[in-house]
Amino acid sequence: MFTSVLIANRGEIACRIARTARRMGLRTIAVYSQADGQALHVRLCDEAHAIGPAPAAESYLVIDNIIAAAKAARADCIHPGYGFLSENAAFAEACAAAGIAFVGPPPSAMRAMGLKDRAKALMEKAGVPVVPGYHGDMQDAKFLGRKAYEIGYPVLIKAVAGGGGKGMRRVDKHADFDVALEGAQREAQAAFGDARVLIEKYVTAPRHIEMQIFADTHGNAIHLNERDCSLQRRHQKVIEEAPAPGMSAALRATMGAAATAAAKACGYVGAGTVEFIADGAGGLKADGFWFMEMNTRLQVEHPVTEAITGLDLVEWQFRIAAGETLPLTQDKVPVQGHAVEARLYAEDPERGFLPSTGKLVALQFPQGQGLRVDTGVEQGDAVAPFYDPMIAKLIAHGDTRDAALNTLANALDKTIVVGPRSNAGFLSRLCRADEFRGGDFDTGFIDRNLASLKAEPQGLDAAAVAAGARELLAQKRARIAVDADAPSSPWDAADGFQLSGPRRVVLPVTADGEPVTAQILHEPSGPVVTVDGLAAAPDAVAVAAADGVYVLRHGRQTKVALRDAGTAAAGDHGGGGLVRAPMHGKVLGIFVEKGEAVTRGQRLAIIEAMKMEHTLTAAIDGTVSEIAVTPNAQVGEGATVMMIAPRSPSP
Ligand code: ADP
Ligand code: ADP
Ligand code: MG
Repeated sequence: MFTSVLIANRGEIACRIARTARRMGLRTIAVYSQADGQALHVRLCDEAHAIGPAPAAESYLVIDNIIAAAKAARADCIHPGYGFLSENAAFAEACAAAGIAFVGPPPSAMRAMGLKDRAKALMEKAGVPVVPGYHGDMQDAKFLGRKAYEIGYPVLIKAVAGGGGKGMRRVDKHADFDVALEGAQREAQAAFGDARVLIEKYVTAPRHIEMQIFADTHGNAIHLNERDCSLQRRHQKVIEEAPAPGMSAALRATMGAAATAAAKACGYVGAGTVEFIADGAGGLKADGFWFMEMNTRLQVEHPVTEAITGLDLVEWQFRIAAGETLPLTQDKVPVQGHAVEARLYAEDPERGFLPSTGKLVALQFPQGQGLRVDTGVEQGDAVAPFYDPMIAKLIAHGDTRDAALNTLANALDKTIVVGPRSNAGFLSRLCRADEFRGGDFDTGFIDRNLASLKAEPQGLDAAAVAAGARELLAQKRARIAVDADAPSSPWDAADGFQLSGPRRVVLPVTADGEPVTAQILHEPSGPVVTVDGLAAAPDAVAVAAADGVYVLRHGRQTKVALRDAGTAAAGDHGGGGLVRAPMHGKVLGIFVEKGEAVTRGQRLAIIEAMKMEHTLTAAIDGTVSEIAVTPNAQVGEGATVMMIAPRSPSP
């Protein structure tokens, strides 16, 4: 067995790998970018090495820097985690050339499965069912359009080099094909440096069911059961579970055999996932699933498999990389109870799930039986704009699916994320959604239920604002009590308070930047704060910070701050004509010129952040009076992108 490991990753996955490595007695070596000097994964490891500036392309993705760190630290092996270099065959080769073991498959297997078109061709040869479609070399738009027509709509255009749901477009009718193709190619070129695509039949009522496989260097391959990852948004997993609802032992064996055949066909070694798309209409069936791709690494959602098998998959990875045989034979692989994982993200479900970065003013997770929390951050850390904005994974295990979902939903309700917005409330509603509970769902479930999941603007939560205003008032009173020079009465107009009745005052505040007025009624028992007639919500959690009070209610954050009487009226508005970057990102394209007349809803620019493209549109009719950014520029959250001068109303 190895005595040391360099973990070529960051965040929760680096922490996860370090935990097992330490338990196995390995010396753990972290790497970090300039943004991560104080990060949890650095603190958890025995030693740490700097590998470059904050952007991943200049640190976590630089093979030479990581190999140099591994040599300096005399690491026996390198674990790549997932994301970053985990599926990069050149990295695995560089490890071998440096005499360091790579905890992952051989480079040849990574190459065989790295491109979706070649992988599908290989699988066809191995007798594994693949999604019908075109995965040849021809890339001419007219030709592809004809293929799509032959396959029959709806179709899915996929980047052959794709991953993370990027470069993918569903097309429902021929008229939309060309625009979709162009978008997929542009995204693929930008993300992977490879614009090539393939076309697949879009499977209706699709369920994403994947098999966890393991193979050793002695020719053995087994599967550790399936995971169902059908709850997705933008083709990305949101909630994953094991076993898959409706899975029979016979079908599991059939899918497992296909998955191990896939592994054997590419000479696989180590942990891998074979992803299938299944036709869920009328239940899962043996002739209703097709190979989509193989991920040649550990998967984000591996903890649900660990929960139902009681195994440590990272330990297995180390053992196999060290040349040991698989610890179990297929018939000994357990399936115990049910497990569900939710990906807790710093994002705003009400604003199209935009990433929400910044300091974690508060971060708390519940603890309990059957609950596991994997995270890479702690209270006080920041969610940096450079990396994936995942805060944590919450994993619940129970005797039944309902028990696991109850545990997970309750844990999400008790989770406190303050500062960046999070999807905690959204995830909890998902766990409680009736149809999902009933096992009646496919990959379109989230998109179809955005309204009931409250993933659209919810407007002001007046009871939460009242709770924030009450906290601000308490702070003010405390300050007055300790500061002898301060005006002794909180009625003082200069202090932002105004007298508007004998026992009634108003407190001007902002709620998420919008001006709001809280009413304070002085009762003998103490002040009662209301907003729009609603009293402070008893179930709200208020966290005081330097810039205001953050109120958390039903997983939703409202930031309440005192409003300065002088600036109150000006506020943060641009009359609708100010176009701001909704998050930190890169300007991919600008579609208008200065002086150009635009109409409401018109596409103005595209900004890319994390894994997504966001289109900025005009909120009003007008003329572009200023463009403040250039293509490819990095912009901060809230930065001015352009100004639209409103068109004067026609007389
Ligand atoms: P999976 O099917 O396991 O979700 P993805 O292809 O979506 O696989 O990506 C794997 C995971 O790797 C992501 O969910 C994310 O946590 C991590 N990841 C991907 N890209 C990055 C990145 N640029 N920085 C940090 N982590 C990343
Ligand atoms: P990525 O490399 O981005 O993970 P995948 O090929 O695994 O790409 O597809 C991502 C998701 O897109 C799948 O989990 C599934 O929900 C959906 N998807 C992929 N192919 C199809 C298809 N042919 N029909 C319906 N949905 C699909
Ligand atoms: Mg996939």
